Amino acid sequence: MKNALPLTEEIIEMDKAHHLRPYLNFDTLEEGALPIERAEGINVWDTDGKKYVDAIGGMWCVNIGAGSKEMADAIAQQVLTCNFANPFTDMTNVPATRLAKKLAELAPGDLNHVHLTCGGSTANDSAFRLVQFYHACKGNKGKKHILSRTDAYHGTTYVAMSLGGKKGDRIDEMNYMGPDENIHHLSSPNHYRYGNGLSEADFADKLFEEFLQKINELGGPDTIAAFLAEPIMGTGGVVLPPGNYLKRIADYCRQNDILYWSDEVVTGFGRCGEWFVSEALFDIQPDILISAKGLSSAYIPLGACIFSDRIWEVISEPGHGRYFAHGYTYSSHTVAAAAALKNIEIMEREDILDHVRKVGPYFLERLGELHALDMVGDVRGTHLMACVEFVKDKTTRETFPEEMDIGKLVANEADRLGLIVRPIVNLNVMSPSLICTEQDIDFIVDTLRQAIEVTSRKLRSQGIW
Ligand code: PLP
Repeated sequence: MKNALPLTEEIIEMDKAHHLRPYLNFDTLEEGALPIERAEGINVWDTDGKKYVDAIGGMWCVNIGAGSKEMADAIAQQVLTCNFANPFTDMTNVPATRLAKKLAELAPGDLNHVHLTCGGSTANDSAFRLVQFYHACKGNKGKKHILSRTDAYHGTTYVAMSLGGKKGDRIDEMNYMGPDENIHHLSSPNHYRYGNGLSEADFADKLFEEFLQKINELGGPDTIAAFLAEPIMGTGGVVLPPGNYLKRIADYCRQNDILYWSDEVVTGFGRCGEWFVSEALFDIQPDILISAKGLSSAYIPLGACIFSDRIWEVISEPGHGRYFAHGYTYSSHTVAAAAALKNIEIMEREDILDHVRKVGPYFLERLGELHALDMVGDVRGTHLMACVEFVKDKTTRETFPEEMDIGKLVANEADRLGLIVRPIVNLNVMSPSLICTEQDIDFIVDTLRQAIEVTSRKLRSQGIW
């Protein structure tokens, strides 16, 4: 804060006094937050005018890059035409309807129905209601359990956080739904951390066996309502599913009327070179697919719960006097829908998916070089979704003590060098905007290498390591 410009001081002080940020750690309040003022392309600038390459793409969300005049114009036009329309019961609006149709085209198989929400958490809340509604309408009285996974992240509302399974998201001062409320967590599929010497194929078998065993324990498939998973775990450590274990689960679900619920909030919208990865990369046809983030490239908050004809046919059967008693004031928001339509138009016109398929392998190849560093235990991911895992001992994979916050130490060094990466305990996670070039990737990897080397030297010279 020393030598900060007046705006920086003003914002940092006001922020401390009045602004409860997501996941604020009160022990670090006095350090102040990094105040960002401007964003363009893959870069952001702080209030002192310092430029950073934002290798997190906001929060895995600024997919087409920041500062698009075309997006601004589309949003402004929609505000002037119709800034809001009541989305409830017997009213609809033009952009939301067009977006629903477009998402039905982009989503795999028979995912032809869309409920638009305010973000990823609310889309998962809507899916939770849809699962209950579907089974109730179908007369599947016993189907009430939902299977999720340890290390999963599905958002931060009460339901979404209860469905998630990250240790760091569970705090003593809050409560969560668990097995008593029919939410269960299977093991994390992180082979590097929990593989215990098993081959990837054996680990996949073990995870599938655990899935079957849990179903047995709960009373058999007639008691299971849904299985929920991110196809590639994001916040839980960029974890690709080992072998074809998710596909095996999906097949079992299909045979047993268990809804397969795929959370593609991060993996969708081009991040892995596809509109959605469930079917394209993993041969899974979900019943429910969740989208957000890249859906509007974060120009306006938006989420979508996209679901199948199979569900629609059951819930929409006439003659029962049923209604879907769920929805938000800002469901199907006109301006958010217009932003998403323009975002999709830009992605299609610029062939951004193809660009990601080209630069993605280069990103992983360059990041792979960091394996050689003494502190780097693993580098993993796919396309523009990757992480580096830091270890105290490369052979045993022993981690640094959690309270050391090694990921944050490296991220702080990167900040100084003009690079923003996302620290999550012993990881640095990266998900740059999809427009990033090979030169941008070179900057990200070279700068991260420098940040890791500086951190490693400091730890050794301080005798901490
Ligand atoms: N699902 C996944 C896989 C996510 O990564 C996130 C956010 O990071 C969410 C859901 C929640 O989305 P939101 O923060 O828009 O509510």
